[in-house]
Amino acid sequence: MQYAYAERVQNMENSAIRELLKVAEQPHIISFAGGLPAPELFPLTELKESYQKVLGAGDPSVLQYGSTEGYLPLRAEISALMKEKGISSNPENILLTNGSQQGLDLIAKLFINPGDIVLLQNPSYLGAIQSFQSYQANFITIPTNSAGIDYTALELLIKVKRPKLFYLTPTFQNPTGSTLTVEERKTLLNIARQYHLLIIEDDPYSELCYDNTTVSPIRAFSDENEVIYLGTFSKTLAPGLRLGWIAAEKNIISKLTIAKQGTDLHTSTLLQRTTHYYLTHFKPAEHILSIRQVYKDRRDIMLKALEDHLTHQALWTEPRGGMFIWLTLPEVYDTLQLLPSALAGNVAYVPGANFYVNQKSSNSMRLNFSNPSPTQIEQGIKLLADIIKQSNK
Ligand code: PMP
Repeated sequence: MQYAYAERVQNMENSAIRELLKVAEQPHIISFAGGLPAPELFPLTELKESYQKVLGAGDPSVLQYGSTEGYLPLRAEISALMKEKGISSNPENILLTNGSQQGLDLIAKLFINPGDIVLLQNPSYLGAIQSFQSYQANFITIPTNSAGIDYTALELLIKVKRPKLFYLTPTFQNPTGSTLTVEERKTLLNIARQYHLLIIEDDPYSELCYDNTTVSPIRAFSDENEVIYLGTFSKTLAPGLRLGWIAAEKNIISKLTIAKQGTDLHTSTLLQRTTHYYLTHFKPAEHILSIRQVYKDRRDIMLKALEDHLTHQALWTEPRGGMFIWLTLPEVYDTLQLLPSALAGNVAYVPGANFYVNQKSSNSMRLNFSNPSPTQIEQGIKLLADIIKQSNK
């Protein structure tokens, strides 16, 4: 049967790369392709105890429908976390979501008319591009030159094209690992303010910081509510909980709440209660410190392996946090074309083209260092280097 899909479905393409990377899930492949946390770091015992306590208290409301905004004590905990980041907030500024991915989708649902323009970093997080695309957004990207963001060109672009939203991950970005300085954050905020451009600040990685120099979120510099902030427990606790949040001005939260109601009524009562129990009865800050230590070591092992095997073939970023290194080969390479050889050689990565809008090829790749073990990182980078060298460009 010929299905009469809505027009917007034309923008929902099946990703060829996703099909290719299914192979990367096989155990003999060393995968730098996923964006997964290290499973051995999940606080399994603490979450099990939290779950049992919450269920064992005999209160049936933990299994009942809940409010769309989310469990109030958890929203209060999150707004305390926000305050630690310099973001003034109350529970009424917080909406619980099924991961920050749902937050992105709800924001798109609320703001994007077909043809509206979204301004992005290029490359950007694929999941955000997909969400915005499914609401038929058009994209423009931040002009950069060798010195970084070209602010004059950016302002001109905004002036002429009048984007509606400005989506960015300013801290330990996915995919490049890059971080904007305080000055850059303030400059971007000023430009956005001048042109009434709403900033969507996606911040899943800032807790994963490896040199103790955290930069405040853009939202912390803004007192006029021109920034919508997205947070998540996916990287500091466990992504399978599917718990994230939006912190925004309360009128926006009210509208987002209506949008969420139509999507899924609310986020799991039981998992919100479990997470609240965990946050208030265990030591989440210490847990984050232990994640930082493990990921910092893995990042350093990957950087050292790259240094040992690819010094004369590639350039790469040295991220101060997050989960990814962005590796760039000479321009004659196309990392999408190289992928089948890499998979045949038992190593996987995500080709850079995937993270760009309007760009079909790229000589870069994203490498994840949080999920593979130190030994896998050493072996995998050696395999990758051999494949790059054998491809003989
Ligand atoms: N934003 C960015 C930049 C991400 O990298 C991810 C996941 N990797 C998400 C949002 C979504 O995360 P979650 O839905 O698990 O909170």
